[in-house]
Amino acid sequence: MNLLPVSGLTSDLRHPNGADELSLCEATGSAVSRSLTLLSRLSDRSDWSALTVTDFEVLLLQLREQVIGDVCDLGFSCPQCATRVEVSFRISDFLDGIGSRRPPGVEPVPGRSGWFRSEGVEFRLPTAGDQAAVEHSSDPLQALLERCIAPPLPPVRLRKRIERAMEALAPEVSRPLVGTCPGCDGTVSAPLHVARLVVSEFVRDAASLHDEVDLIARAYHWPEADILQLPRRRRRAYAERIRQAA
Ligand SMILES: [Zn+2]
Repeated sequence: MNLLPVSGLTSDLRHPNGADELSLCEATGSAVSRSLTLLSRLSDRSDWSALTVTDFEVLLLQLREQVIGDVCDLGFSCPQCATRVEVSFRISDFLDGIGSRRPPGVEPVPGRSGWFRSEGVEFRLPTAGDQAAVEHSSDPLQALLERCIAPPLPPVRLRKRIERAMEALAPEVSRPLVGTCPGCDGTVSAPLHVARLVVSEFVRDAASLHDEVDLIARAYHWPEADILQLPRRRRRAYAERIRQAA
């Protein structure tokens, strides 16, 4: 049971089984929409798209940590010399210090749940649903602000103030990772998009799923649907036992 930093909601996701992994692997669409589908499969809640982007991304990283582990290894190319740079981080460290704070002068709007007011401009915090909606926009940040600020185009000074208030209320989780290039010793950074990272890791982690189902079905003659309902760990243990026996 985890507490989400902005909403204070508790999350109680079950671990994905083979059917969930297969559904994620076969789904098309953006990483955000595939993540939302995965979350709805893993719980009784259906309104995950209403979560703020912060809570949504924290939830995805917590799930990744519980199912695959705390340490994330990422690789990217150095823009200077094209050497492969490997960056490793702990999810627990990455999420450390992410909390919600309401700056002075920012007040909730009475009777308008989830909306805040600052200097006469009203705004709400971007949600995972907003993120999915603007993903293919030519300027996603601008499109996001237009959905979440009323009126949508306040003066620049006020807009900056609201962006800072949003960041304090719901800090960004997806932020650049910084590493040192072993080729040129330069400091390099790469953007991290939490939903893309978590979806790609779950898909990669499920690479052996078909082999495991095949092995177990041949050995025990269980139907595919039953094998897919097994918890991931148990399915792997059976497959490993069959491999060793062979
Ligand atoms: Zn380099």
